[in-house]
Amino acid sequence: MHRTKVRVVEDALDANNTIARANRDDFDRHGVGVVNLMSAPGAGKTTLLERALDGLPGDVRAGVLEGDVAGSFDADRLSLLHIPVAQLNTGNGFGGECHLDANMVRTALPSLPLADLDLLVIENVGNLVCPAEFRVGEDARIMVCSVTEGEDKPLKYPLMFRACELVLINKIDLLPHLDADVDRLLANLDAVNPGVARMLVSARTGEGVDAFREWLTAVPARVGAAA
Ligand code: MG
Ligand code: ZN
Repeated sequence: MHRTKVRVVEDALDANNTIARANRDDFDRHGVGVVNLMSAPGAGKTTLLERALDGLPGDVRAGVLEGDVAGSFDADRLSLLHIPVAQLNTGNGFGGECHLDANMVRTALPSLPLADLDLLVIENVGNLVCPAEFRVGEDARIMVCSVTEGEDKPLKYPLMFRACELVLINKIDLLPHLDADVDRLLANLDAVNPGVARMLVSARTGEGVDAFREWLTAVPARVGAAA
């Protein structure tokens, strides 16, 4: 019984990876660098994007795919940047799943003008567990961890912190009001993903966001160089 269950999970992940490769091919064909942005709910993904995507160099045309169980609150906010934004609701035909998978992303691709984009940010559903298990065809994975979440989170959700190339430590403007220990948070991060790139940022004040914007700006060139 146990073996069968494991087998089913492996088959599902194989199927996901096959579709992720199809997405990847589409992104490559259109020369789009793709980032999968993950975090717990409320860590500040959307506010960070509002800050970082505003002021991108003109030769980096960005678009966003917003993943949420329901509603278009974040897509509506990002539309104010006058960039292509598509909303993907997992509650609309995908069982209200708490993550995005490659197939969901694939169904949303026709609503994005890939030929006119250099950078696509996929904002995943807020969740520290299963988004890390599903590749969607991205080039890089970023996770946002805010200082209000507690220093122990890398140790409690190691897969998420291991599955990313960049960790944004957000809400550092709140540090004077918290007992949070950022050094311990970073030590715990290094315990599960030694030396992973990290940036201390405040989406609210904009501190550190320039460095994040530069990192995003470099994604399409990195992909182009690899192709
Ligand atoms: Mg959001
Ligand atoms: Zn899930």
